[in-house]
Amino acid sequence: MTTTLCSAWHVDRGLGLTTRQPAPRLDQPTTAYRILGLPDPLLRQGIAMHEAGHAVLMLRLGMPFTSVSVADDLGHGPDKQGSAGLVDFGASYSAPVPDVLLSSAAGERAQDRWLREAGLWTEDRAWVVEILAAHDRTIIDQAVRISHPDGPTYGVSSDPTVDLAALHDYVDVWLHGLWDQVVELASVLNRRGTLTGAQAAAITSFSSNGGTPESGVTE
Ligand SMILES: [Zn+2]
Repeated sequence: MTTTLCSAWHVDRGLGLTTRQPAPRLDQPTTAYRILGLPDPLLRQGIAMHEAGHAVLMLRLGMPFTSVSVADDLGHGPDKQGSAGLVDFGASYSAPVPDVLLSSAAGERAQDRWLREAGLWTEDRAWVVEILAAHDRTIIDQAVRISHPDGPTYGVSSDPTVDLAALHDYVDVWLHGLWDQVVELASVLNRRGTLTGAQAAAITSFSSNGGTPESGVTE
């Protein structure tokens, strides 16, 4: 398990996020996708890895979902409406806090690992992966505050239920053990765009996924 120093994290008050990587130095306004600088096929593959990371952890933890998908328009970037991908898990979802933390953090950590394995990782791209996970980070923030009203810490504790660095390290270990399934699910998701929870379970050889009829999403 790696150790993340507190000084490795960066507070961005404009974005309201604390990130592992520093924000790129920009000479002029741009978009997150321009900073990412990936052609659409690679952008789509990265989004599929992100959503597969969420989905495989949810399958492993027994958290049912209705579908997992990659948007045809790839999301346009964070300054436009619409999400690049999502796991539809039901409008009134309830799950144990540790499971919510793990599954919520798994998207960005899977995408970050994919960047590394594809030889595409740069500090700036990793920062974009973090800010595109702002919705996931919000869910994590809310889940942490149930028992820690001051909110998450960053690299100052080894407790994954309160410290995001510790949570990331913990999720990385889970993802390592499930990586073949994440890669396989992302590959099929990339080709087909949308999979039901049951299809995702079959692809990853998990025994079942109950699914839920209501609509609700995590991006
Ligand atoms: Zn996500």
